[in-house]
Amino acid sequence: MTQIRLRNSLTRKVEDFHPIDAKNVRMYLCGPTVYDRAHLGNARPVVVFDVLYRLLRHVYGPEHVTYVRNFTDVDDKINATALARKEAGAEGSLEELIRARTEETIGWYHADMDALGALRPDREPRATDYIGAMIAMIEKLIEDGHAYAAEGHVLFRVRSYKDYGALSGRTVDDMMAGARVEVAPFKEDPMDFVLWKPSDEGLPGWDSPWGRGRPGWHIECSAMSYELLGASFDIHGGGIDLQFPHHENEIAQSCCAHPEGSFANYWLHNEMLQVEGKKMSKSLGNFFTVRDLLDGHHGEKGIPGEVIRFVFLQTHYTKPMDWTAEKARAAAATLRKWRTAVDGVTPSPEAAPEVIAALADDLNTAGAIAALHQIDDPAVLKASAAMLGLLDDGMGDWVAAPEADLSGLADKLVALRANAMETKDFAPVDAMKQALVAAGVEVRMSKAGVELLPGSDFDPAKLEGL
Ligand SMILES: [Zn+2]
Repeated sequence: MTQIRLRNSLTRKVEDFHPIDAKNVRMYLCGPTVYDRAHLGNARPVVVFDVLYRLLRHVYGPEHVTYVRNFTDVDDKINATALARKEAGAEGSLEELIRARTEETIGWYHADMDALGALRPDREPRATDYIGAMIAMIEKLIEDGHAYAAEGHVLFRVRSYKDYGALSGRTVDDMMAGARVEVAPFKEDPMDFVLWKPSDEGLPGWDSPWGRGRPGWHIECSAMSYELLGASFDIHGGGIDLQFPHHENEIAQSCCAHPEGSFANYWLHNEMLQVEGKKMSKSLGNFFTVRDLLDGHHGEKGIPGEVIRFVFLQTHYTKPMDWTAEKARAAAATLRKWRTAVDGVTPSPEAAPEVIAALADDLNTAGAIAALHQIDDPAVLKASAAMLGLLDDGMGDWVAAPEADLSGLADKLVALRANAMETKDFAPVDAMKQALVAAGVEVRMSKAGVELLPGSDFDPAKLEGL
């Protein structure tokens, strides 16, 4: 059996992966808060952990892996949208409008992540379906002295858990110095965090021993992972931005409520995404959603989900990833070449060992792509690319679709020819024809006009400057 090695954030080392139960390998990934479209950075963990999911399924068998990714569907931003719609005259109760908003957003999320070729997790729990489990966990924490109720809130007593900070390698006092801790009169210690908070009129709330209220964000993941995966499971993933405080808090809650378990044995964190070398931000104007990229935005044409995925996988998950238009162009050219090679080919039963070995080596996706470049047999290429979620039959429509760019080039060639008729200098026409042919485009010129047909070796990158 292939030995998978993973970088464990808990130990800060690359370790051999040994599941608790090889018949049921369990992985939890912090999912989205469903208040709006996912931005490109949100998609990185989805693609990274999709590759890990595929690898685990390959090694342990598809029926022996359980992958859980939650939806946080209780959040102030969701409430704000629902409230704004209600004030604008939308029909239905606030609860119904909240539900409608989360349904809408979950639908978008599924469509966008499907377009990136991410397999759906085995379970996608919604926080609002697990409120009872959260209340039970909070009660247990209070009973054992790890939490306390105050003014309608329940807070976790951070200093009651001696290992707090172990994941991020910092002490409570270090963290206090660097964190934006909310000081509140009802807190025993500024580091204590909210497990439950009161809901006033006009906000969604659930009855609890501490009055009508709603859960804090951190307890959601602890309760859902316990319910679906148990007190001990194998892998917990998420973006590095969640390591503190979210993941520290998850560990503290889960280990204190269920001291019989170890919570997650391996913690994996993906680094953040940048755009053209800069942090993505609305103020820099380089902020976009996955849908913007898929459909085209700011006058740019859409980029196929498979191409986005390929660009993501060229960078190791522990390194910051830079999204650039140039990388997308190069990725499309490579995928186009491979797709032509595997067209109509039945994948071989086994992926190339080099590809599996690269992935098993702490998800070395760049190494796996390099190995794909070395494969001559199309059947093996197709089977191996599937380990990365590439060259899937359902994702290849973009290759067959005519390039929107080509009509502009055809017009240009028509204009050049018309000009050449007058000047009797056909050199510019010939030069452009040659450049098109070099880019893998078949040029058909007739009296009726110009037809440009991308051939099997079509490389859009080579059209630049035309
Ligand atoms: Zn979480």
